[in-house]
Amino acid sequence: MEIPNWKKLFVESNIPGKLAPLKELSKNLWWAWNTDARELFEQIDPEIWEETAHNPIDLLDKVSYQRFLELEGDEAFINKMKGVSKHLQQYLGDRKELNGPHIAYFSMEYGLHDSLKIFSGGLGILAGDYLKEASDFKVNLVAVGLLYRYGYFKQTISIHGDQMANYDAQQFNKVPVQPALDADGKWIEVEVEYPGRNLKARLWEAKVGSISLYLLDADYEANSDEDRFVTHHLYGGDNENRLKQEMLLGLGGIRALRKLGFESQLYHCNEGHAAMIGLERMKDYLSETGLSFAEAKEVVRASTLFTTHTPVPAGHDSFHQDLFRGYMNFFAEKLGLTWDEFMMLGKSNPGEDHFNMSYLAANMSQGINGVSWLHGEVSKDILKNLYEGFLPEELNIGYVTNGVHYPTWTAKEWKELHLKYFGESFVQNQLDFDLWEKIYKVPDEEIWNTKKKLKLKMIDYIKERFADNWIKRHENPKLISEVLSRLDPNALTIGFARRFATYKRAHLLFRNLDRLSKIVNNPDRPVQFIFAGKAHPADKAGQDLIKYIIEISKRPEFLGKIIFVQNYDINLAKVLLQGVDIWLNTPTRPLEASGTSGEKGVMNGTIHFSVLDGWWVEGYKENAGWALPMERTYDVQDLQDELDAETIYNIFDDEIVPTYYDKNDKGYSEDWVAVVKNTIGQVAPNFTTTRMIRDYQDRFYNPQAKRYDGLVAEDYKLAKELAAWKAKVAAVWADIEVSDVQITDGINNALKIGESYPAKVVLDLKTLSSEDVGLEMVISAPGENGQLELVKTLEFEAAESVKGVTTYNLDINLMDPGYYNYGLRMFPKNEHLPHRQDFMFLKWL
Ligand SMILES: *Cc1c(COP(=O)(O)O)cnc(C)c1O
Repeated sequence: MEIPNWKKLFVESNIPGKLAPLKELSKNLWWAWNTDARELFEQIDPEIWEETAHNPIDLLDKVSYQRFLELEGDEAFINKMKGVSKHLQQYLGDRKELNGPHIAYFSMEYGLHDSLKIFSGGLGILAGDYLKEASDFKVNLVAVGLLYRYGYFKQTISIHGDQMANYDAQQFNKVPVQPALDADGKWIEVEVEYPGRNLKARLWEAKVGSISLYLLDADYEANSDEDRFVTHHLYGGDNENRLKQEMLLGLGGIRALRKLGFESQLYHCNEGHAAMIGLERMKDYLSETGLSFAEAKEVVRASTLFTTHTPVPAGHDSFHQDLFRGYMNFFAEKLGLTWDEFMMLGKSNPGEDHFNMSYLAANMSQGINGVSWLHGEVSKDILKNLYEGFLPEELNIGYVTNGVHYPTWTAKEWKELHLKYFGESFVQNQLDFDLWEKIYKVPDEEIWNTKKKLKLKMIDYIKERFADNWIKRHENPKLISEVLSRLDPNALTIGFARRFATYKRAHLLFRNLDRLSKIVNNPDRPVQFIFAGKAHPADKAGQDLIKYIIEISKRPEFLGKIIFVQNYDINLAKVLLQGVDIWLNTPTRPLEASGTSGEKGVMNGTIHFSVLDGWWVEGYKENAGWALPMERTYDVQDLQDELDAETIYNIFDDEIVPTYYDKNDKGYSEDWVAVVKNTIGQVAPNFTTTRMIRDYQDRFYNPQAKRYDGLVAEDYKLAKELAAWKAKVAAVWADIEVSDVQITDGINNALKIGESYPAKVVLDLKTLSSEDVGLEMVISAPGENGQLELVKTLEFEAAESVKGVTTYNLDINLMDPGYYNYGLRMFPKNEHLPHRQDFMFLKWL
């Protein structure tokens, strides 16, 4: 034959015995936040390290045997390897004993490292950071998610500025996951019922320090092609596919944990996607313990926490009842509910035709929280339909402000500086805010130079990446060299990178191009902007925005002044956040639930400039950053945008640019360094995941675990009693009668401050007593937006009671002058209720 006859030959990598620890190290994502471990891998072969995008498993597969032999003989390398390996062993050894209740954590995405493509944005990064922190902080936690074949897309930009989404298949032997095996060495599988068939999913384990993250994967031979698709894309496919994914995550996730033998005290549902964990657990209690539906619900609710992340109603997943019934009808039967009763678990009123996953999560959880103070408030409004009769501010919806994982996001240069000045044990003692204040002892020049060094690094990185991207898309070489030569490591540099969802208002800066041009082109005080971010493939408006920014960046006056760097990922985020001087965020209020990228910036001395929304409401302090006011001035969004844009330009012109360029004879700006120091000393300490995980423990995990333990003790004694009591109250509630109400008429006889006015109400409680039923006066007043706001509640005291006919008394005594509204409201009372909305009976008289 005259043509080549190729046959396949596969050479497996073979790591010499002496280097075996490398293999072990590559399998635990601990390397992702350990500088020494990453440097070790880089040292093996810096080029391959870059080529594999910092993926140690892939790296070890690609390095030549020759190179391994060299390393075997390299004593310094071997010693470093042994050191890192010992460090990991010690780290894991320290975590044999863990603190607090056992938590099972569920999330649709996890952003741990770019090599494991199971995240798209903030929600995933947060969950990834949380697992790393749980490991560092010795929290007793196991996590569950999905392993996507394609994950989220890689972004490239066409020469016309169009975003192109590329989906590369992940080879699971090249990412840090391993099959999860049972005691007999068999690969663990779970099944989930779909109409007419069962979906099978096999289980993988990712090791995140001492934390195990179990990932469900449906893409293998056991399933039809259609069902294999279920775990192909994160947030891909249609709504039906989303339902299939959420069934797998919720129902399959609990089944997986049971096969693995976990018995958790608490189930943390990170966003509503995983809300079906509550249904599956209910089903198990019903079939295995003999508890009734009501009793099981007591137990499940006590042990579930729901964290909501979405500040707009439309952002909450919901499924049309017809679609939902096709998949979930069988489950209603398993719970012994009619279809209508079952649907009500995901509705706020019977008229709705969708099953809402956030409503389900809220119904199945004792604890609910938003992800910043402001978002907690907004969430009360979003979920208020579930709690008719209460004012939003009475709702038991708390908050834990998101944080970021210090070891992951802080530049090596800053870590070294922190160790030097804050002390060797600083990382373990991040919660000691006094340590952070030692930043004021650091010489100004050291701060300035650290920032400068990181900015240079960033500029080099961008130049390389940028040139590479532009060459690949055949941009004009003259344009490329123009951009590269204009990028200036000495210019004030602003970063703006995030998902291009329209509410993030990336366009705001471009409302007045003349003004922007003047800002960036001042020859004495140049400014440059670096943009990055992906738009969801279905979000046309977001993609148009990217296109617009790219178009502007090619105009002569903005060339090299406005740069868009493609494919925002964890690595790029780190480089930008560590390298720029200012991190800019301009969301539409109040749609930024928390935002975390700015928090990554502040621990690197990157000053934050943002609308007061999300975490910045709590983070902003004068002289520690810049802010746009929290209140909206205009109802019309376009006018608000106009005002905000003008404010941004003004703040740049009047404050930021002059401060940065006010350099002394040593070549740095003392005022600027002062703001950097305040950023690190006053803002950063409060936005670590260490603070965040402690808040979860204090506000939710510990109190809920305690209550849960109480409910289930002695064969669920208290859970049964509570369920029985609720049934008793519910049966009589509608029959309770109001026999008499005597209250001062405050209109004709204005109440005088300081005097007290007796009020008396008589209720016929029928078979209930005043121990079961409380009565209160709710006082409200119109707030700023015209809605009634709670002023206070005053509880009546129960006096004599004859055959259920009970007198309640109250001395009304108001200390602030003004016009108020009052209402009388009776409510069920029981010391074992965790909060009022736990038992949704309420009657306004
Ligand atoms: C931190 C981070 C996000 C989230 O940032 P926001 O402030 O919420 O916009 C998104 N993507 C990546 C790659 C990140 O590192």
